[in-house]
Amino acid sequence: MKKQTIRDIDLAGKKVFLRVDFNVPLDKEGHITDDSRIIASLPTINYLVDNGAKVIIASHMGRPDGEYTEGLRLDPVARRLSEILGRDVKKMDVVLDDYVKRAVANMKDKEIILLENIRMDIRETDNDDHFAKELASLADVFVNDAFGAAHRAHASTEGVSKYIPGVAGLLMEKELAHLSRAIENPEKPFVVIIGGAKITDKIGIIENLLNKVDSVLIGGGMANTFLMAQGYKVGKSLVEPDKLDVANNILEEAKRLKVKILLPVDCMIATLPREKDTVEYCSSMDNINQDKMILDIGPETVKLYEKEIKTAKTIVWNGPMGVFEVDDFSKGTEGVAKAVANGEAFSIVGGGDSMAALKKVGLSYKINHISTGGGASLEFLEGKRLPGIEALIDKEIEKKRKPVIVGNWKMHMNHAETRNFLEKFLDEYQQNDTEVGFCVPFTSLQVADRMKEKGIKIGAQNFYYTKEGAYTGEVSLEMLSDYHIDYILIGHSERRSLFLEDNELLRKKLEKAIDSKVTPIFCVGESDEQREANHTKAVLMDQLASAFVNVSEQDAEKVIIAYEPVWAIGTGKTATKEMADETIAFIRQWFKETYSTRLSDKIRIQYGGSVKPGNIRELMSMPNIDGALVGGASLIPEDFLALVNRKEE
Ligand code: ADP
Ligand code: MG
Repeated sequence: MKKQTIRDIDLAGKKVFLRVDFNVPLDKEGHITDDSRIIASLPTINYLVDNGAKVIIASHMGRPDGEYTEGLRLDPVARRLSEILGRDVKKMDVVLDDYVKRAVANMKDKEIILLENIRMDIRETDNDDHFAKELASLADVFVNDAFGAAHRAHASTEGVSKYIPGVAGLLMEKELAHLSRAIENPEKPFVVIIGGAKITDKIGIIENLLNKVDSVLIGGGMANTFLMAQGYKVGKSLVEPDKLDVANNILEEAKRLKVKILLPVDCMIATLPREKDTVEYCSSMDNINQDKMILDIGPETVKLYEKEIKTAKTIVWNGPMGVFEVDDFSKGTEGVAKAVANGEAFSIVGGGDSMAALKKVGLSYKINHISTGGGASLEFLEGKRLPGIEALIDKEIEKKRKPVIVGNWKMHMNHAETRNFLEKFLDEYQQNDTEVGFCVPFTSLQVADRMKEKGIKIGAQNFYYTKEGAYTGEVSLEMLSDYHIDYILIGHSERRSLFLEDNELLRKKLEKAIDSKVTPIFCVGESDEQREANHTKAVLMDQLASAFVNVSEQDAEKVIIAYEPVWAIGTGKTATKEMADETIAFIRQWFKETYSTRLSDKIRIQYGGSVKPGNIRELMSMPNIDGALVGGASLIPEDFLALVNRKEE
């Protein structure tokens, strides 16, 4: 997903809250020993200043845990930054107080203020909402350039984006561009090199990238567990015996995908990582001295890995091949570092220790991208969503909600009818970029399972929120889990009016569905009387507020809302597409005010008032309508096909 950057917005005269990663190492006297993180932020700061912004910079350093710790103040950073920028940097002695607010209020264009180490306020790591709001009130725009902290949901990396729009800085943009290039469309052959201490830390990368790579080269401590899984005896080496299954699964999956997984064929061993005089070379993994530990890959393994690295077009490397901190065990890592640096491939290196190993051999400059974020780059390569990135505005807002059309069969369709329907529907249906599903009667769930083969989702129409008990006639979500349902309808107007389900019950149902990871389709809507009395908005707000009272933003994002104008269903009265869009815009606004702009841009809202092939296109052309909950027209294969393909008949 592409995020907006500082280049997409107007900056002149604007106050910018810029989050950077100035977490630089200091020596005992408090001098900066490595200023690469400050250097890395210069392009963004210069761009902001050159475009006339007022820049308020925030960063963390170390872990002051909410205390004003003298050794962790940002004064050395301010001095260094001012030196390299050739500009004044006004350093604040607190994170945020009235003095800071006044200083910010009086800023002139192109001025730079650096707040005190933001983690000296405990509300930062707590992602305290008030604090985030106060930070946001300092500025007009939030710019996140702290890729290294993007995997944390803190007030200055995530919270502020709820109150002011967030965009990426240039360093963040570069990180995302390079890392995405590797995971989205890597040029082949794609080789991943994984080392470091433990399987646990790095397995996510292998799992996420396995279906994209051509080979995986494994070294370091994590290779031991793979070797053990293959039946080798690894002596006193670092192993994770509880991860043998994980290793075996990867090996099997790799075989199925025809991905090469290479393990060390020779190694360096010793009694302990530090005991040089006990070092031995072991030319085969079959006869390792059982009193010793494997501490580095051997020269034959380096040669084997070099061969793969040479032909690669894309390389991702994370984790050293051995205990490289000790010279005797650094040759494997250095060999691999040289091969990667001298190879032709587009190369990405992440992880603090791998970076240090590269620096040691003086070849960092030959690597295409060395990620500034250890943990963040790992999580990104694992395919996880990083809160600090999610918080930023997407490039194409209008395209990002996936259309979703769901049929609701209500109390129709026995087994034979279900089969008949499937016969016709599945024959013609072609999956496209619209999410399609059916909420069927309980009795059809098993038969309907076939739909999943074509990517169609299946839902149930009702459930009771407890797991089991004396509730004659009810079915629980746990019971429904046997049918692997994707959706569950909640709050449909018929349940509200005929079966008297009230807001309290619907809240419990919604929370239960969220807990069970089934996507709720939560219906809201007003009756004829309510509409006539001009109560539409009040009714909708009441229905939403009582249902979502305990729902977090993250969970709310997964809910699909269906708006049913109950007054227009089967009454002959019609809701025009403009009326439908206006009410749905109101619902969207409610989510914006209750949660955030981000959520209101994201949450999908369907329209559910007599949708037919004849009106689907005009409805879906409205900016706020993302799909439809379809009753009658979902019972006839031809009609529903026309509908999901948005063909008017
Ligand atoms: P990175 O920082 O690059 O992500 P890790 O932190 O995962 O890498 O792992 C680096 C650590 O792994 C180093 O301290 C190194 O000594 C250790 N290590 C590498 N190989 C072995 C091994 N065979 N046995 C024990 N420790 C190892
Ligand atoms: Mg490390």
